[in-house]
Formats: sequence, C-alpha cells, structure tokens
Amino acid sequence: MSLAHGPRTLAIPGPSIVPDRVLRAMHRPAPNIYVGALVDMTRSLIPDLKKVARTEHHATIYIGNGHAAWEAVLANTHARGDLVLIPRTGSFADGWGAVARGLGLQVEYLDFGNRVAMDPAAIGQRLRDDTDHEIRSVLCVHVDTSSSVRSDLRAIRAEMDAAGHPALLQADCIASMGCDVFEMDEWGVDTAITGCQKGLMTPPGVAFVFYNDKATRARERADCVTAYWDWVPRTDPEVFSHLFDGTAPTHHLYGLREALDMIVHEEGLEAVWARHARLARALHAAFARWEDHGTDGRGVELNVRAPEHRSHAVTAVRLPGAGTRLRDWTETQMGVTLGIGLGMAPAGTPEWDDFLRIGHMGHLSGHSLMGTLSAIDAGLKALSIPHGGGALEAATAVMSGVTSICIPDT
Ligand SMILES: *Cc1c(COP(=O)(O)O)cnc(C)c1O
Repeated sequence: MSLAHGPRTLAIPGPSIVPDRVLRAMHRPAPNIYVGALVDMTRSLIPDLKKVARTEHHATIYIGNGHAAWEAVLANTHARGDLVLIPRTGSFADGWGAVARGLGLQVEYLDFGNRVAMDPAAIGQRLRDDTDHEIRSVLCVHVDTSSSVRSDLRAIRAEMDAAGHPALLQADCIASMGCDVFEMDEWGVDTAITGCQKGLMTPPGVAFVFYNDKATRARERADCVTAYWDWVPRTDPEVFSHLFDGTAPTHHLYGLREALDMIVHEEGLEAVWARHARLARALHAAFARWEDHGTDGRGVELNVRAPEHRSHAVTAVRLPGAGTRLRDWTETQMGVTLGIGLGMAPAGTPEWDDFLRIGHMGHLSGHSLMGTLSAIDAGLKALSIPHGGGALEAATAVMSGVTSICIPDT
C-alpha cells in the first residue's frame, strides 16, 4: 500500500516549491510590454532585488538560469586569457570553471574536497604568492549545492584584503540567496549572482547579477562580453526593452514580484533567514539522532561534519548502499521527492546510489519540513537501514524553541 496520495512535497535543492500565490500572480493574460503596468512593476523589482542581495550597487536581470548568470558575470568582468582562482568545495565550482574556460579564461582550482569549507588562509596564501597580481578574480560558490558546504565569504574577503590583492571577489549565491545570511556590501563581495528558482520561489527562468563599482571598472577592460550579455544597457536602459535585450519575461516578472512581496515586504528578509536557520537546525538535530546508530559506516550520515559550515538551504546526506532506495521509497510510499546525490560518485557506479540531498529552501514551513523528516524516518524503518531513534522528537524540540537537548547553533 502506498501513502503517497494526497499533497506531495518536492524537497529537491532547486527548483524549490512555488507558492500558490506566485502561481496565481503568473496566471493572467499577456500584458503590453511597451507601456503601462508591466513597465512600472518591473522597475519596482530592482530595489527589492538589491535588498535581498544586501547591496546598494547595481542589479541586472537576465532571462536564463543559473548557468546564464555564471556566464553573464564573467563576460562582464574579464578579458580573454585572464586567470581566475576557484576555491572548490563541490561540483558547482567545476561548472562555473567550465563556463570560465569556455570564455577563454585560465582557471586555477584550490580544491578543498567535498566535505569541508574553503580555507580562507589558504586562499590568502595563494594570493600573497601571486606577486604579479595575475589572478583577476576569486570565484567562490557560497553554498555548494552538491556538497551542501557553506563557506565564509567575509573571512575570504579579509584574507584578500590582508594580502593586499586587487582581485575581484565574485560569489555564486544561487543556492544561498534568500536562505543563508548573505551581505554583499558589508562582506565586500564585488559581484553576486543568483537565480529565481531556489530561495526566490519563482519557476526557473530569470537570473540576477549584482555588481559594485569595482566590478564596473573591470567591465571597462572586459573583452569577453557580447551585446546580449552586456550589463551596461541592462542596468541603465534608454528604453524598457534594453532591460532584457528584447521581450521581457512577462509572467516570470509577475511571479517574482509576488515572491519578493512575500520575502521583503511581508515576512522580511531577516525573518526569512532566521526561519531557514531554525529549520536547518531542526533537520541537523534529527540527523544527529539518526546518525547515532551504533554500527560502522553503514547508516545515515550528514556529509558536512562542521555545523557552522552546513547550508541552511540544502543538505547532502551519505547513506551507503541505500541512498537511491530511500529516495525511491519516500517518493513512491510517502509522496516526498528527495534530491539525487550530485558530484559524490560517478554516475553509473554503485557508489552513485550512496547519496541523496534534501532541499529546504524557500517556501518551507515547520510542518512541511516535519513531513519530509517523517517520510525519511519511515523509510529508514521500512528499509531496515541502521538509524538511531528520537529524530523527530529532536526536530520538534528545536522547532518549539524549548531545546533542552544540546544542539550546536549553526
Ligand atoms: C542551482 C545552482 C547552479 C545552477 O543553476 P541552473 O539554474 O541549474 O543553471 C549554480 N550554482 C549553484 C550554487 C546552484 O545551486
């Protein structure tokens, strides 16, 4: 018998759950794209996007996904042959690096593996060794969605400053923005990118590039940029159509307007961050119990051991021999779709099945996360996967705010 009939939950790390309000806002006839409500509404998005990125500088909107933002930001900040340094904490760094190579940049990785955060001191040392200042940018994935490692961008900026190095600090915040705390200006991040389909709760289709004055200066020598990707007319358009270099993504903009209303004007960004933090702590508390199974290495385990480097948006889980089986079970028996493991083992090998990920970004309440955790708990039992007890209780204790048990604050 399957218990999957009834409301289903999508708990993959992007696209995230689209609120009904956002869907309803998109359900409308096509608007005029030359004058009127759409034009005014679109202009209203820019200040709210800047609030989400915590920047006073520039925001541009591209029609595209995260890969589009990867390309857009590099095209505007680099000349062919430039060297970029990519500290790596998972496979999204590889993706961004491939885009950089495609643009004719030289890519150097500092690989930290798949389980720990970037070491700011190691980045600082590499920059100090770069006495000729050949490195033009440090490209950091804030939260790597494959490993769920979150790195400390503020500390990385401090190391860059201490090294006296002029490279740009460019951040991929596609998984983290609107979920994990991110302060573009305060942390000294020069460019930040995100997509609409994760923390911003809008169906995939638009992506954002934020950039400051230092990045504006880099644009002056950037010879990678083509007319379509150029952020100059998009930031300061003479006519509305320059904003998108063509037809506006009309319905996405209405959806995004509704999502930003929810985040910026109703709940408030800091409350959104606090909700994600609390829910992530509840999830970590559940795992702390499940992990306590007394057997060696066969049960469930969080990929990131250091609580302060665990994302509040996505969690990678190691489950030797049973990752895929548990995902299949929760989907077919409980109506909860978990994410596949990414970048931990090559596709087609038996080890590929040892991993899964949980998306907990965006439109997520206490009860919806409890549903996901309960489905996992039931699956661990149904499949006889070794696990400790008391996980759901530990999660509700965190959610209730009366944590009598000791859980590290992440
Ligand atoms: C999702 C994601 C991307 C890629 O976004 P797409 O929309 O799939 O192109 C890049 N970086 C990070 C950190 C992501 O989470």
